[in-house]
Amino acid sequence: MKIAAEVKDAKTIGIGGHIRPDGDCVGACMALYLYLKKIYPEKQVELFLEPPSEVFRCIKDIDQICTDVTGDTNSKGDFDVFIALDTSKERLGAAEALFDRAGKTINIDHHVSNTGSGMVNYIDTKASSTSELIFDVIEEEEMDVEIAKAIYIGIVHDTGVFRYSNTSPKTMAIGAKLLSFGFDHSELIEKTFYEKTYVQNLLLGRALLESILIMDGKCIVSAIGKRTLDFYQASSKDLEGVVSQLNQTEGTECTIFMYQTGVQEYKVSLRSKGKVDVAQVAQYFDGGGHVRAAGCTMNGTFYDVVNNLTLHIEKQLKLAE
Ligand code: AMP
Ligand code: MN
Ligand code: MN
Repeated sequence: MKIAAEVKDAKTIGIGGHIRPDGDCVGACMALYLYLKKIYPEKQVELFLEPPSEVFRCIKDIDQICTDVTGDTNSKGDFDVFIALDTSKERLGAAEALFDRAGKTINIDHHVSNTGSGMVNYIDTKASSTSELIFDVIEEEEMDVEIAKAIYIGIVHDTGVFRYSNTSPKTMAIGAKLLSFGFDHSELIEKTFYEKTYVQNLLLGRALLESILIMDGKCIVSAIGKRTLDFYQASSKDLEGVVSQLNQTEGTECTIFMYQTGVQEYKVSLRSKGKVDVAQVAQYFDGGGHVRAAGCTMNGTFYDVVNNLTLHIEKQLKLAE
């Protein structure tokens, strides 16, 4: 699929990514936004996302993102084309209404849980990231250093810096092509991926200190309550990386990390080393993701959430034995 051809007749184009956008979501959306603005300067292109983390300030035109889709979405008018990235339409948040009303819808994603919610779909579950797919759908001749940086950031974030098993020879080949545009990749990785604020490190410390091993050490669990988040004036963005650190614990097969979003509500992140398909576990609770990284939102106490999840995890571990 080439995106230029798919949108050539449109006068207005909307782009949206999932709620609580991560590096891949931000990178993919920004790369596509920059590309479409470049090749079609006469078209109206708008990007809708929840406010991205400050670390992505280094991406050109990130301040052009429309972060307020709430209120009267009708004032935005109906788009000729709306493109959903790194999610199916259900997790577009407020922008889902814009997607639903658009003349033509396109969905580009790499989640196994995505069954294709667009009129045109480009779903490749083998791709490391949606950003990698954006590289596929844009013309290489039109690529420039700013677009390359956005795609690179996206790939870096979803592969844990080319480390997770979703990194393929193709991912590396694309990475090499992107580097040839000449930007400080080392600084980009350091500033957007590894560097943490003091508060982020404190929260990571607490999550590690308070973690527990269950299921004979096969699963590690940790949670951050709302009171702690409030105390540090922290948000979900400050917990990025916590679940992957927990998942590095020797001897474990999977990780459950959750933070409280309401009285009896938790946002749950699941990670696996391969034996457990956490996307399948998350899908029982209306979430989704990938075999080794998935998420969902669950209701109940901490113990309810753990009990409900371990039921499915145990079943899968038994099957794998
Ligand atoms: P997280 O643990 O939130 O970083 O998510 C891990 C992976 O699962 C990411 O690829 C997310 O996009 C995906 N994911 C997280 N929550 C959900 C959800 N509620 N529905 C579908 N996919 C999700
Ligand atoms: Mn994502
Ligand atoms: Mn992704």
